[in-house]
Formats: sequence, structure tokens, C-alpha cells
Amino acid sequence: MRAIKLHQRPQVLILSGLDPSGGAGIQADIQTVTALGGHPLPIVTCLTVQDTRNVYNAAPVDAGLVADQLACLAADAPIHAIKTGALGNSAIVDVLLEFLAIHPDIPLIVDPVIKAAGGGDLADQALITAMREKLFPHADVITPNGIELAALGHSPDAGAAASELLKNGCNAVLATGGHGTGPDIINTLFRADRGPVEWTIDRVGADYDGEFHGTGCTLAAAIAAGRAAGLELDKAIEQAQKFVSGAIKDALKVGEGQPVPDRISRWQPK
Ligand code: PLP
Repeated sequence: MRAIKLHQRPQVLILSGLDPSGGAGIQADIQTVTALGGHPLPIVTCLTVQDTRNVYNAAPVDAGLVADQLACLAADAPIHAIKTGALGNSAIVDVLLEFLAIHPDIPLIVDPVIKAAGGGDLADQALITAMREKLFPHADVITPNGIELAALGHSPDAGAAASELLKNGCNAVLATGGHGTGPDIINTLFRADRGPVEWTIDRVGADYDGEFHGTGCTLAAAIAAGRAAGLELDKAIEQAQKFVSGAIKDALKVGEGQPVPDRISRWQPK
């Protein structure tokens, strides 16, 4: 028998929903973390009925089951970063908070998913309040798009909305501009102890001017993969933005709705 030397990759615990179109949600997260060299530890928080056009229904997984999965996994495997997407309901946030109380030092990347790009709801008011009041203060960074930021920070002005969230105990807010229009995407990182940092990125997809399905998930998962690998937050964001641009340039046609970023197209086996 030939002996093999085991190796470990940066391990990213993922809590997000299942999108059967494979465009957004936990499949986007798993592909992204894998493509960036990490090993995903995925926990499904909700099941959705959706296609590439929209979300039509969503049902949360039992919060007790999520609690058992977290405890079981943490007793066995090191976790180097945590990424959350759609969280199902506020009971799952409470379960995650209990977990974070025991593991306070793992970088937590929160994509505060509220609605699908097609307009379908992925969070009720209790979940939005639980994320805002209880989860955000534990996050390394939250990654709202313009619509989410305005709703969570109670202002259409990104700077005002971000400072409202920072005042509430959030460590950093990456306001993403991908859902806007215009030739450039501007992503801005707001932190309480220093001025904003801005990145201007070419909007790709010249022959297509709509949304791509699962870009928010891809960006946040890529940041988590970078943090799990030991990158500082700014560097993890820069790497994630490049990864998202590449995946969009190679976007896939899956169905009749939004194209899907191809997260594995540039993946090279070692
Ligand atoms: N998570 C799930 C399960 C979803 O179904 C969706 C959108 O459809 C999202 C997250 C958010 O997707 P996006 O990355 O396009 O914001």
C-alpha cells in the first residue's frame, strides 16, 4: 500500500439557501470557495422554488437541525471563515449566534440576502431585524447591494445608510454597486475608524445589460475564501472582485432568465 500525505485547505463554513437553478445560493458558494482553493463546509438553511428568472417560494430548514449540524461539524473540523447568505428565518440566526458565542474569532462574511434579483422575497421582517440587530455586530464585513443597504440602513444614500449600520456595531460594510447601471461598478468599503475605500470595476457583459444570477453570493463567498486563506480584508475583497469579473466574463446560459457567472471556468487542477 502506498502512503499518501494528507493536506488541508482553508475551510469555509457556509450557511445559505439551495437554488435549484444552480445560479445563486449554496451552489454558487461551494463552487466559488472550491475554485479559490478552499474546502466548503455547507449547511443548507432554506430550500427555494426558483429558476433563473426569479424566486417563487422558500421554506426554512428546521433551526434545531442547523444547530446540530453546526455542533457536529465544529467538534470535528477546523473552520477558518464563515459565509452566510439567505438564512431562512430568525430562529436560524439565533442558532448561529449561539455558535458564534463559542467561536468568536472566526471571520464572518455576511451577505444580507433579502430579495432575489427578480424581486422574490428571501427574508421576512423578523429575519431582517435579527440580521441587522444581532448578526451584523459579529461580522467582519457585510456585503449589501444598493437595495439591501438602503433598506437595512434606512437611507437611499449609501454613506448615510452605511454609517447607520456602523453605529449599530457593524465592523465594515462593503456597499456593492453591481445592481446599478452605467459603464463602471463602484464598490465602497465603509469602516468606522477610517475613510471609505472605493474600487471602480469595468461592468462586463457588453452585449447583455441585465443582472447576472448569483453575483452577490459569489462575491461574498470569494471574500470568505480569501479570509479563510489568511488574506487581510482589503486584499480578500480585491481578489473576490477579480474572481467575480472573470466569472461574469465567462457567464453561462442556464435557462431563459439571468445568465450565471461561470465560477469554475478558470479553475485549474493542481
Ligand atoms: N441565496 C439564494 C438561496 C438565492 O436564491 C438568491 C437569489 O436568487 C440569493 C441568495 C441572492 O442572489 P444574488 O447573489 O443574485 O444576490
